[in-house]
Amino acid sequence: MSVYHDEVEIEDFEYDDEEEIYYYPCPCGDRFQVTKEELIAGEEVATCPSCSLVIKVIYDHEKYTAAEDEVSIEEKLNDLSLEVNN
Ligand SMILES: [Zn+2]
Repeated sequence: MSVYHDEVEIEDFEYDDEEEIYYYPCPCGDRFQVTKEELIAGEEVATCPSCSLVIKVIYDHEKYTAAEDEVSIEEKLNDLSLEVNN
């Protein structure tokens, strides 16, 4: 069981576009971090690499999983058109 140091909305995180990682300042001087992939996978804990603190990320799960669904729908459409061509 995790005890969260804090709960922080994803909007308050700083997003690194290139690394696709969300950062939030940790009291130890380092930064909590959670990747976009982890959020899509349903992860809601951001960890600090320099200390044992963890924070809970408050975000709209549907917003992140919806992006995944769009991809799978496209894949299904591709599969369907392949079947039609055959
Ligand atoms: Zn820390």
